[in-house]
Amino acid sequence: MMRKLGILCLVFLMIASLGACGISQGAESVEERDTLAVDDSTLTEEGDDADAEAVQEAEEVSSETTGTAPNEQAVGDAGVFDLENGMVLLNSGYEMPILGIGCFRLSQSQAEDSVYWALRDGYRLIDTARIYGNEEGVGRGIQRAIDEGICTREEIFVTTKMWTDDFGDGDAAIDASLSRLDLEYIDLMILHHSQPSNDVEAYQAMERAVEASKLKSIGLSNYYEPEDFDRLVDATTITPALLQNETHPYHQSTVMKEHIAQYGTVMESWFPLGGRGNTQVLFDDETISSIATEHGKTSAQVILRWHLQAGNIAIPGSSNEAHIQENFEVFDFELTEDEMQRLTALDKDQRFAGY
Ligand code: NAD
Repeated sequence: MMRKLGILCLVFLMIASLGACGISQGAESVEERDTLAVDDSTLTEEGDDADAEAVQEAEEVSSETTGTAPNEQAVGDAGVFDLENGMVLLNSGYEMPILGIGCFRLSQSQAEDSVYWALRDGYRLIDTARIYGNEEGVGRGIQRAIDEGICTREEIFVTTKMWTDDFGDGDAAIDASLSRLDLEYIDLMILHHSQPSNDVEAYQAMERAVEASKLKSIGLSNYYEPEDFDRLVDATTITPALLQNETHPYHQSTVMKEHIAQYGTVMESWFPLGGRGNTQVLFDDETISSIATEHGKTSAQVILRWHLQAGNIAIPGSSNEAHIQENFEVFDFELTEDEMQRLTALDKDQRFAGY
């Protein structure tokens, strides 16, 4: 009963917040899912934002703020962003940081360093994937930070993704990611892409892993149509905690965001800055750059602050120590309602990735 009441409140709050942001409904383009596995050896970042070429490749609360145990009573507040503490309560009952480091295209050693620097700078959320080929590096970066007393395992939130090729044997894929990350549990695992032939099967493996305490929360990535999202939800038991889709000022994912709100599912933005090869387009956008100048901030910081105030978890990727630090310095300023509206008005329903 309490849970149902909580979900009702949540739906109301989320719809109200979308309305307050002046978010309009727009048709979301349906993009072709990339079915190609990525050659791990190509997934290295060559330096921030020389941004050589466009990327076309695959890619519940504890009593305090840790991921150790869900707080059932608090689920009614799920989906509401706490910008003071940089956290959001998931419908699973776990709290999740709203800003993290993304590890797409980082080599093992880059991932290790980037994760370590990020944790040192205050980040507590890390996003990787089996297909990035850097889960071991991520695990080493985490261990370095823990060994140095920067954080504890319970204070950090680790996300990885199950790649489509692995959907046929999800149980093994989960164990393999746990082993590569060298972790006893993963805070969030998501299916990397919609794959109607066997994604339900893969999701059910994740449900079993939640039961076995190997995973805390589970979710989805790259589901761009409400019907596709509902297909998966209707066939499974645990409501996805999160949907990770390409989301940035030019592609604000309003239709999917409004759709998933009814489930208490939150949106997480991949390509939050537009993605490698596209960032300059957003950084040079007149509205974004002028707001940045007004605040004495960089365009990257304004975009990231917009994500957080709009209710999107953001996971900017970088292997550049200075950029990693810069991207976390977004909790010391606030965009006005007018600025938020100007940024919301930039939505062109334009994706940068082709998958
Ligand atoms: P992004 O939008 O975070 O942009 C990354 C690019 O921006 C890199 O070239 C980086 O060098 C540059 N950059 C970062 N901070 C900067 C700064 N302050 N100033 C200038 N340049 C800066 O794109 P991304 O890394 O591809 O996406 C973010 C994360 O989302 C990934 O790392 C990955 O974890 C995840 N992701 C998931 C999927 C998926 O299919 N689920 C797809 C792509 C990415």
